[in-house]
Amino acid sequence: MERYYSFSRYLKEIFGERVYRVTVDAGFTCPNRDGTKGRGGCIYCFSGSGYDEQKRQMSIEKQIATGIERVRRRYGADKFLVYFQAYTNTYASPDTLRGIYDRIKKFPEVVGLIVGTRPDCVPDETLELINSYTDDYLVWIEYGLESSHFKSLRWMNRGHGVSDFIDAVLRTRRFPKINICAHVILGLPTEDREDMLETADFLSSLGIDGVKIHPLHVMRGTELEKIYREKPFKLLTEEEYADLVVDFIERLPKRMVIQRITGESPSEVLVAPSWCSHREKHRVINLIRKRFEERETRQGAKCRFYREKTART
Ligand code: SF4
Repeated sequence: MERYYSFSRYLKEIFGERVYRVTVDAGFTCPNRDGTKGRGGCIYCFSGSGYDEQKRQMSIEKQIATGIERVRRRYGADKFLVYFQAYTNTYASPDTLRGIYDRIKKFPEVVGLIVGTRPDCVPDETLELINSYTDDYLVWIEYGLESSHFKSLRWMNRGHGVSDFIDAVLRTRRFPKINICAHVILGLPTEDREDMLETADFLSSLGIDGVKIHPLHVMRGTELEKIYREKPFKLLTEEEYADLVVDFIERLPKRMVIQRITGESPSEVLVAPSWCSHREKHRVINLIRKRFEERETRQGAKCRFYREKTART
C-alpha cells in the first residue's frame, strides 16, 4: 500500500496507464543569472555548467522524439508529458513561448505539458498562454520555492521573496485547470527541523497541488561548492533525510501529489553527500518507504489544513 500520493498513481488515475516525463532544454536563460534579477544564479544552480550542452544544441523536436523513443523502448510507454525543465521556461515573450510550447503538438502521444519556472517570472499574459493548453493537455506549472523562509532564499541567492511565490500562486489560481507544483529543498543549513516543516504547512495552507522534495546536495562548479569547501556545513545523512521526508509528507494534505521524494546527480559532478548520486536513488526511495512503514504513518496524518481535493485534471 502506498503511503503517499505519488505522481505515477495520480497519472494512472487520469490516463488509466503509466505516463512518463520527457525533459526538454529549450535554450532559455534565467533572470537570476543574466543580471535582470541577479547575477551568478542560485548558489546550488548547476544549469549553467554546460554539463548537458549536447542536449541544448538539439532542436526541441529532436529532444522530444529522442526522449519518447528512449522511454518507449525502456518501459513500453505510450503516453508522455513534455517537461520544459532547464533554466527558466517562461523567460521570453508570450509569442516566443507559444512558438516553443506549440512544438508538443507535433507529437500525438504527448498528453501533458509541464513548465518549470521561477515565481517572479510569470506575468498574467504568460499564465493566459499556459492556460490555453489546458483544453487539450494536462498542464502543470512548477515554481521553484525551495523554502518558505526568506533568510534561506537570501542565503541561496534566489533573488525573490516568499511574497513572489504567494503572488504567483494566487494569480495562477485564476486559471483553475493549471496545476501548481512547488520545489522544496530540505537540509538547508539556515533552517532547523521545525523551519523545514513550516514549509510543509505553508504549502498546505496555500492548497498547492503538488510538491517535489529534494535534499540539499553540493555539485561541482557551483557557488555552493565554494562555500562548502571554505566552511563546510552539515549535510543530512540519508537516515536523517528519510525521517525528515516522512515528517514533511505527514504534514501535507492527502491529495497533494508527491512528484518527487529525493534528488540526485551524476556521481562525476556530485561533491557531497555521496548518497545523492544517481546510483543511490532507488535505495534512498526505498529507505523513505521503509520509514513510512516502520512509523506506521502516511501522508496527511499531521496535516493541519483540510483540502481534500487539490490536484485537478
Ligand atoms: S532560478 Fe533556476 S536556472 Fe535560475 S539560477 Fe536559480 S536554479 Fe538556476
